[in-house]
Amino acid sequence: MENRIWDPIHECMDPEQRRQLQLNRLKMTVARCYALQAPYRAKMDAAGVKPEDIQTLEDIALLPFNTKQDLRDHYPKGYFAADQADMVRIHSTSGTTGNPVIMGYTHKDLDVWQECMARALTSVGADQTSVVQVSYGYGLFTGGLGAHDGAQRIGALVIPTSGGNTHRQVQLMHDMGTTHLCCTPSYALYLAEAIEASPYSLEEFKLRVGLFGAEAWSEDMRAELEKRLNIKARDIYGLTEVTGPSVSMQCLEGVGMHVQEDHFYPEIIDPDTLKPLPDGQVGELVFSTISKEGVPLLRYRTRDLCSLTRGTCVCGRTTVRMSRILGRTDDMLIIRGVNVFPTQIESALLNLGMEPNYMITVDRINNLDQMQVEVEMSDAMFSDEMRQVEAVENRIRKEIENIIGISFKLKLCEPKSLPRFEGKSKRVKDLRKR
Ligand code: ADP
Ligand code: ZN
Repeated sequence: MENRIWDPIHECMDPEQRRQLQLNRLKMTVARCYALQAPYRAKMDAAGVKPEDIQTLEDIALLPFNTKQDLRDHYPKGYFAADQADMVRIHSTSGTTGNPVIMGYTHKDLDVWQECMARALTSVGADQTSVVQVSYGYGLFTGGLGAHDGAQRIGALVIPTSGGNTHRQVQLMHDMGTTHLCCTPSYALYLAEAIEASPYSLEEFKLRVGLFGAEAWSEDMRAELEKRLNIKARDIYGLTEVTGPSVSMQCLEGVGMHVQEDHFYPEIIDPDTLKPLPDGQVGELVFSTISKEGVPLLRYRTRDLCSLTRGTCVCGRTTVRMSRILGRTDDMLIIRGVNVFPTQIESALLNLGMEPNYMITVDRINNLDQMQVEVEMSDAMFSDEMRQVEAVENRIRKEIENIIGISFKLKLCEPKSLPRFEGKSKRVKDLRKR
């Protein structure tokens, strides 16, 4: 699979020239938001910033932030900056608490998104001859339709299975010779299990690349999926508020995710002081959309933690790259003052050669945080003598404690007894929030 580039002009642009393009687009977006987005105009007025104050890219730091709460407060259409007649689609976040967030897209917004998705698929070797299976959910969630439209744009054969019906997914993947699989890493693992349980052998599949995203996953999980599915597993990132999947993506080189910088301008800030952080430092990712019409967003706080790296990639792209997402500030568990991310448990289990099927329950008992981790045993472990199970239990506990640095209660469960996920996984139950 050789390196291909969908849009060399924008993906391989001279960085100085790109900065000029970004500045022009940023100025236009600031003017648009100030004129058409009443809640953001109020924020700018309160901060004493006028559109003409933005003269360099660094001036972006003068602009106020937007948060998910702002979008919720102005549900459903308070941030719309185009006439409803010019909107052609909406998508919405999965938001479990409070109002959902509705984003509207104009024709041009969808066109940009499709271009970005086409770039992402091309960067993992997909083309007109590829068979792309889209196993992200279709609907209000951006994953399904986003991947679908991009795959169609490059002229690939699209298999729109959406999430679910795992048996049929495997059969179609086998019978149609799927080359590229788009889904969440959790679902990819579930599909790997289903393939192993199917009458087919892995050699009968044509699968070459998985484009996995929509939730945090670890390098260990990547290695596991590459082995289990005999593919290259690559990361794709996005969020509804900014557009959807393909805001950034990993190329075949597999080092960081290329940000589609001509459309989405990234910054990293310290989530406590809100001050910009230099390249290489981990902090909260903030995006300004600089070409959007429907719902442009300036300095949107994603709550996702990562770092940025500049420099030309081996693939030839000159775009800034984001590291893997370490977690969401709202996914991070603070247990007795220590920060714990679910992906750390995932890594620990994979280090032990176990499947990363687990559930975390956190509660506060007598004013003390307690964490329980349920872990699934393999069939082999399950049939072992009790004494050996105790030894295994100790090994698992030690490995996890080494990584997260706090003690917790471990509960071993029967094989295949914990939930599997067809979309984004939900592995944390935080009972302290009752
Ligand atoms: P929701 O906030 O309801 O989950 P979205 O479906 O728009 O809404 O999901 C966007 C979020 O999903 C991102 O902010 C990020 O936390 C997560 N996400 C998306 N892609 C990735 C990825 N490749 N790695 C880690 N997290 C991701
Ligand atoms: Zn690259």
